[in-house]
Amino acid sequence: MFVFKAAVIGAGTMGGEIAQVIANADIPVVLKDLEQKFVDQGLDRAREVTKGQLDGMVAKEKLTQEQADARLEEVLGRIDGTTDYSGIGDVDFVIEAAPERIEIKQQVFDELDQRTPGHAILASNTSSLSISEMGAATLRPDKVVGFHFFYPASVMPLVEVIAGELTSEETISAATNFARAIRKQPITCAEAPGFVVNRILNSAVGEVWRAQEEGGLSIKAIDEGVTAQNVAPMGPFMLADMLGLDTILHVAQHLRQAYGDRFYEHEGMRKLVEDGKLGAKSGGEGFYKNGEPQIGGDAEPDAERLAELFSLKALVECCLIIEEGVASAKDIDLGMMAGAGLDPRRGLLPPLMKADLTGLDVVLEKLEQAEAEHGERFAPPRLLRRLVAQGRLGHRDGQGFFAYPRPDNGEQPETVQLETRENMAIAWLMHPPMNSLSPSVIDDLSTVWERVKAAEGVQAMVICSSIPFVFCAGADIKSFTKLDEQSGDEFVTKAQAMLNEFGEGDVVTIAAVNGLAFGGGCEVSMACDMRIAAESAAFGQPEINLGIVPGFGGTQRLPRLIGPEKALEMNLVGDEISASEAFEHGLVNRVVPDHELFDSALGWGRKLAGQAPLALAAIKRISNAPHLDKGLQDEKDAFAEVFQTDDAREGIGAFLGKRKARWTGK
Ligand code: NAD
Repeated sequence: MFVFKAAVIGAGTMGGEIAQVIANADIPVVLKDLEQKFVDQGLDRAREVTKGQLDGMVAKEKLTQEQADARLEEVLGRIDGTTDYSGIGDVDFVIEAAPERIEIKQQVFDELDQRTPGHAILASNTSSLSISEMGAATLRPDKVVGFHFFYPASVMPLVEVIAGELTSEETISAATNFARAIRKQPITCAEAPGFVVNRILNSAVGEVWRAQEEGGLSIKAIDEGVTAQNVAPMGPFMLADMLGLDTILHVAQHLRQAYGDRFYEHEGMRKLVEDGKLGAKSGGEGFYKNGEPQIGGDAEPDAERLAELFSLKALVECCLIIEEGVASAKDIDLGMMAGAGLDPRRGLLPPLMKADLTGLDVVLEKLEQAEAEHGERFAPPRLLRRLVAQGRLGHRDGQGFFAYPRPDNGEQPETVQLETRENMAIAWLMHPPMNSLSPSVIDDLSTVWERVKAAEGVQAMVICSSIPFVFCAGADIKSFTKLDEQSGDEFVTKAQAMLNEFGEGDVVTIAAVNGLAFGGGCEVSMACDMRIAAESAAFGQPEINLGIVPGFGGTQRLPRLIGPEKALEMNLVGDEISASEAFEHGLVNRVVPDHELFDSALGWGRKLAGQAPLALAAIKRISNAPHLDKGLQDEKDAFAEVFQTDDAREGIGAFLGKRKARWTGK
């Protein structure tokens, strides 16, 4: 499913900006509301946002004023404002952004189902309502999906792609690809109240709200203190004023209703909303008026403790989200970065990464104390206990929620580093931010591979990413542009020779794909003997979108793995596919929960590294010959050769003697 034209229903706070985002990605969009004045408000907002962005580019001298003026008209020319459904008969993707009431949503979905082509995906920007209930108003519930932007939509990069009960895998993939096409960061999740980011934020901030009301604390001191503690980009009361108290209250009430006492409804906020004091949107008065607090409380907070409770509670909610299968560890932290403004570069760490850095044993102990002090809502989640029991204590121990490199001592290449664990090697890709493949990354991977081959007793190599959010996003385009014809040819030849060896050498190679594996990243994984993927991983061959051709085996290994038809489709279309689609097509051997990926890949490495070395090498070498006759001849030769070895005698003897074989590789 491809999106050539989109529509947005509802031109309010969200709709106008969503239409702007789509038009700014050069996709025509219909913007519909009930009355022309609302449509005009949406169009004005789109103009204002686009102009602001372009003014910024003129100020930075990236565009001239004339270019900016032309671009403004070009973007706005792609938005077709309307009060009826006339321009909607040929759209491919609709985003409903009407008021948050299920009866309105259902009516809109019923109308859309009658007026849009059968292939069109119908998405909702709902913050809290059921996608499945909206789907039920249509004859295409498989094509109904949540597509949740964050306010302000033109700025916040996150889109939560939410699967209803009947939403198809294909719809999720198409929505994810569309999100990337409009330059947003998608995460996927199941339909659970609050989805991911609002749920975690509300659970955490609820502790601050509760402490404020129970202790009569000063909101100004809280806002200043909590911000200084680096747990959020802005104080919670100031943030509420900015987003609109009615919206925040609505979400808080909804979550309290859904999950009970672990969520908190702030009484003071409720009263402000009853009085129509909604913050910025109602003219400025909310928790603050002209910078002065409007609700009682002047006691000094213990900001450090409040920040700690905030972080602990966020972690509890994250674990529950993983345990319930709503979203993966990676998508949770990505979501909190892209949707809640947690930016590690500014010292604002997303919750799971933060817990890993603190140490999961330390966090568990703190949660036990908080539970004793504040009750069940701080009860340590089962997942956390399990990780601690496994000795996965976080960053310092090499693994917590995410896996971290512990490279061998001694000199190491810069962008790929080697860690050896007994008879297994781990090649860590360490080239932030995206592990893109530059000539030096290929050199470093070659160096590590040579060391692995030379290492005594090492029989398996697992390729892992040191970056929790990406496996390898493909070639380093910038460094490619510096290659001339000869150096380009040398580079590709060297890379292909090394990747060939991954499949043909005596060492078993396993790719542990934790996130995006695009282009060169997908090709590195395909060159390995096995691919274990995290649930939230994604694969793709997007070279065609850059007007280039795969260079590391994409046109050869992909058809061998998944068949020529599907491979041609992936190489010609350039869209990404999810880990479960990749599994369905045979591109990956296993899909596991994100937080189990590293252990699973090591488990496979350990199993294969323990197999009879000569038999293993022979099976790798002769498998999948292009011609059956030649393949069978190779197999006959290999069978005869390996049958004569000590290992064959040992294997058969051990089998008959009911004991474990001891291989010598002879
Ligand atoms: P809003 O009230 O500002 O805008 C809704 C618009 O929809 C209005 O202009 C209204 O005239 C129009 N409308 C009503 N019925 C319609 C119909 N049948 N057909 C076409 N248009 C219709 O609301 P909003 O804040 O933009 O929220 C829209 C949706 O986005 C809600 O589901 C909300 O939960 C969600 N959301 C809001 C925010 C936020 O911060 N405001 C953030 C994320 C998601």
